[in-house]
Formats: sequence, C-alpha cells, structure tokens
Amino acid sequence: MRKKIVAGNWKMNLNFEEGQKLTSEIVNMFKDENLKDVIAVINPPFVHLYPAKKLIGDTPNLFLGSQNCSDKSSGAYTGEISAGMLASFGAKYVILGHSERREFFKETNELLTAKTRQALDNDLTPIFCCGEPLEIREAGTHEEYVKQQLTESLFGFSAEEMSKIVIAYEPIWAIGTGRTASSDQAQQMHAALRAHLAGKFGSDLANDISILYGGSCNPSNAKEIFSKPDVDGGLIGGASLKSRDFVEIIKSF
Ligand code: PEP
Repeated sequence: MRKKIVAGNWKMNLNFEEGQKLTSEIVNMFKDENLKDVIAVINPPFVHLYPAKKLIGDTPNLFLGSQNCSDKSSGAYTGEISAGMLASFGAKYVILGHSERREFFKETNELLTAKTRQALDNDLTPIFCCGEPLEIREAGTHEEYVKQQLTESLFGFSAEEMSKIVIAYEPIWAIGTGRTASSDQAQQMHAALRAHLAGKFGSDLANDISILYGGSCNPSNAKEIFSKPDVDGGLIGGASLKSRDFVEIIKSF
C-alpha cells in the first residue's frame, strides 16, 4: 500500500519566533487529534529546521523536510546546504525541483538528477516536483511535458532508488493562484504519470509510489482532490502556514 502524505511548503515565510509557534501548534494538534493514517511533513526554511526538529521530537508520523539541498556533498559552495547536513539532525524529506526553484534559480532537469542523487545517498526522501506552465496546459501537451521532466531527471535511477522517491504534481498555473486543478484533471495527470513510471520501472513499483497534488489546496477542496484513486496526498503552500488549515487538510483523508 502506498503512503498517504501531506507536506507543507512554508517557502520563504515566517521569522524565527513565528516558525517556532507554527511548529508547536502543529505538533500539539497532531498529538491531540491522534493523526495516524497519514504521514505529515513540514518543510520550513533552513533557519527553522533544527528548532522544529526539537519540537517535533518523536511525534509519530510527523516529519521534517527541507525545501532544497545542494547537488554537491561538501566543499567551497558558499551559501549551500548539503543533504548530509540535513540528515545529520534528523530531517527525513527534501522538496526538489519546485517550480519556483526551476524558474527563479534556473534549476534544470539535469541538476535535479544530481540533487536527487545527493538526497538518496543521505537517506532523505526526495519530494520531486513536476508540473506544466499555463501555456503548455492550454496547448494540450501537458502530459508529454511532465512525463519528460520525470524521464530526464529520474529515469537513470535504479528501481530500488525510484521506489524511495515521492512525486508531487504541481501545475504551475495553480500554485499560489487560488485556482486549483479540478480533481479530474489531477487524477488524469497522476494516472498518466503512474503509467509512465510503470513503463520504465514496472507496475508493481509504480503502484507503490506516492504521487501528491500541489496547487492551491485548502481545507475546502482537499477532500475532493484526495478522493481520487491516484492522488496520494498533497504538497501544500499557503495553507500550510496556518496550523488549523494544515491539520484540516491532513484530516481530509
Ligand atoms: C507550493 O508552493 O508547493 C504550493 C502548492 O503552493 P500553494 O498551495 O500556495 O498553491
């Protein structure tokens, strides 16, 4: 059975105190609600990671992730943070290839292969983002576009390595815009991606890979989106900055 995962992407938001407060609220609600069936991950900016880990402690099913890692293991790369550093204090996940990193920091499919390699070598689970811009959706070539992102970044990995990767489908036109993909659009793309993975790695493996949806997910639409058979959870931006909304989304399963 593939895992149900809800991951919050805080992006570049919240100062130190605000980050601690949000983490504490999520930890407390998570314990109070006894949320057991879903894996939740919070992905704050780097400065919050270690204190957040302290607050999370051993809370079952609640994990810490980063929004990025370097493609290198160590050395003279000023300003970078390695996957090994993240793993050394208990981070378990890392978001890779978010569309904002692809757009603003010019991350290529090739670079993302190297980052994914670093993550896997350090026992971090990559949450590998893919998704098409609006013009590609409107041209009707979105499935080919997103499949190619996976092919170019991930199809050089072994089946065993691929089985450790989580995919997040995030149509760029739905990120931070308040405009979600319909649940049918999400299902269609997730099924296409799963079939694409099956073609390369076999259907047993593809059936075990969690594919998350991201793009303006909130407590009012999460239940409908998560009800689709190939949607295994969500990558949540704006709504992950409010503890109640984030926990309500987790409870939508
Ligand atoms: C994201 O940035 O990954 C995201 C899904 O953002 P939002 O939920 O705000 O659209």
